[in-house]
Amino acid sequence: MEDSVIITIDGLVKKFPMGKSEFTALKGIDLRFSQGEFAGFVGPSGSGKTTMLNIIGSLDIPSSGQVTVLDHSIGSLTQKDAANLRKRNLGFIFQSYNLFAVHTVYENIEFPLLLLNYSAAERKKMVTEAMEWLGLTDKIKSKPPQLSGGECQRVAIARAMVKRPSLVLADEPTANLDAANSHNILKSMEQLNREFRTTFLFATHDDKVISYLRRKISLEDGRVAKDETISN
Ligand code: ADP
Ligand code: MG
Repeated sequence: MEDSVIITIDGLVKKFPMGKSEFTALKGIDLRFSQGEFAGFVGPSGSGKTTMLNIIGSLDIPSSGQVTVLDHSIGSLTQKDAANLRKRNLGFIFQSYNLFAVHTVYENIEFPLLLLNYSAAERKKMVTEAMEWLGLTDKIKSKPPQLSGGECQRVAIARAMVKRPSLVLADEPTANLDAANSHNILKSMEQLNREFRTTFLFATHDDKVISYLRRKISLEDGRVAKDETISN
């Protein structure tokens, strides 16, 4: 089966205002991503990895150039259309988990489904499945402060995956985890990628994450220095 292209990036430039002048974080990026990729932006701190993910995730807009994600042109979306794109089609995983501390594991994972108006019965089925994928079933009533970092990140992955999005964006997802937990969550994400063909895009400088990537895009000073496909 031909893999369909879900992200096209042409001549992407991103500038941030800096005092009276500007700082150019991305200096002309051209890339394509297909459904089912397990890819990452790698490179030193400040090279533009997070800026790339934020624009692909419609959390920020290009200064110039074209970025199209699942047929949506990122620079020309209204705030509402961008919110709808994120809510329906994108999952986000952050270094700091971003869970609701006062809500249970179940409620945290259910949250994206409430925004999408699924029925109570559908939500229960979907949350139960997502907890099974991540081995969280016995933590159903726990709250994030009672969990380890690795467990918190598994909840965040379940929350990102529960609606079966086309694309999951993960920014330094292992930054707060030890080696064992890092490998654990990477194996889970790899398995979900293979099972559902969910595209995963990482921003990372962690060698453990990099060892799982099937495509490695090295950013240096806002440009693509290398774009390698790893066959395994
Ligand atoms: P990375 O994730 O690779 O560490 P970032 O994408 O966060 O890099 O940042 C790339 C560059 O852009 C850095 O020099 C950073 O300071 C700058 N930058 C990022 N966001 C902003 C912002 N909102 N305002 C000004 N400069 C920014
Ligand atoms: Mg970053």
